[in-house]
Amino acid sequence: MTTFQADGSVCTVSTLSTEKQEKPNTSESPVIYLPGTDCVIKSQASLSAYTSYRVGGAAQLYIAPRNIEALQAGLKYARERGIPVTVLGAGSNLLVSDRGLPGLVIATRHMRQSYFDPQTGQLTVAAGESIPSLAWQAADLGWEGLEWAVGIPGTVGGAVVMNAGAHNSCTADMLVSAQVLLPNGTIETLTPQELGYNYRTSLLQGSDRIVTQATFQLRPGADPAKVFAVTKQHKQHRLSTQPYNFPSCGSVFRNPKPHSAGWLIEQTGLKGFQIGGAQVAQLHANFIVNRGGAKASDIFSLIRHIQHKVQDQWSIWLEPEVKMLGEFQAACG
Ligand SMILES: Cc1cc2nc3c(=O)[nH]c(=O)nc-3n(C[C@H](O)[C@H](O)[C@H](O)COP(=O)(O)OP(=O)(O)OC[C@H]3O[C@@H](n4cnc5c(N)ncnc54)[C@H](O)[C@@H]3O)c2cc1C
Repeated sequence: MTTFQADGSVCTVSTLSTEKQEKPNTSESPVIYLPGTDCVIKSQASLSAYTSYRVGGAAQLYIAPRNIEALQAGLKYARERGIPVTVLGAGSNLLVSDRGLPGLVIATRHMRQSYFDPQTGQLTVAAGESIPSLAWQAADLGWEGLEWAVGIPGTVGGAVVMNAGAHNSCTADMLVSAQVLLPNGTIETLTPQELGYNYRTSLLQGSDRIVTQATFQLRPGADPAKVFAVTKQHKQHRLSTQPYNFPSCGSVFRNPKPHSAGWLIEQTGLKGFQIGGAQVAQLHANFIVNRGGAKASDIFSLIRHIQHKVQDQWSIWLEPEVKMLGEFQAACG
């Protein structure tokens, strides 16, 4: 739902009309709610439905809170039971083990709210807002600054954690501050300096803080048609150079600067190489695509195979950009 306000600002509280609603399973098992909230706790929820690779086993417990109160209740629930917590955004940079994940998986993808403030040019958004959708909204308003992000199919939370970027821009360039929730339930606001940003990294990776909201500095007042055209051009460039037609996690490896991981993999002769349903994409060698029926273990084995082959030929060990969650069997050779 978008509200255009008298002062010209735009506030959006997204509904879930375009997304699969999470309906409790009323026929089979009793519905369990997170205490004090209307948030359903699912048990043995398949994570393949919540990751862009479309692979992975089940979460022992899974919740997708819509607001901070439910998120805090989820953390309290896990703390009181001494169970581990794993956080997911849109799952577009994750490889989840076929064995699934123990404890409580919290997906922030349904925490949705956005506010474009014309006085400051700042966009304040909840962690679950979709990055491409924000890029299109900004274009519609004639706000410059997010055109580069249109092809990144993640959430605000994932972008803040990963320092997502494209077309020579990245999240750190735009971020004013990020609001994070600590395991004890308190909220902190952090600056980009405090987040220790670098190429596709931040101090939030591997930390126990959950991003709940972020504020970005944009540049209002441009011609919407012009911003829209640049955004569209970026999207078309991505569609023509990257394999969006099969499930993937985007770039699998970080670029070992000054080299590009894709170039190294291609020069090693691995384009099209396949293990099970996992294949090094023909269109872009730094993508591993799920050609249908891939298991997480196929993708993991292919990652290891690429690392060893590139190491043999170039003496460079490629570091994964994709986050691997859960247990994986070490592959040989
Ligand atoms: C087709 C395709 C193209 C892509 N292109 C690009 C690209 O050009 N540039 C780029 O940088 N990336 C790209 N990616 C990768 C991915 O979209 C980004 O890394 C994105 O920022 C991940 O966001 P997410 O919400 O999906 O996070 P997830 O994949 O769900 O999670 C990523 C990490 O962030 C953590 N996390 C997520 N949300 C939160 C939160 N609210 N609080 C705390 N931790 C959280 C997770 O625990 C995990 O460690 C692409 C992926 C695909 C599938």
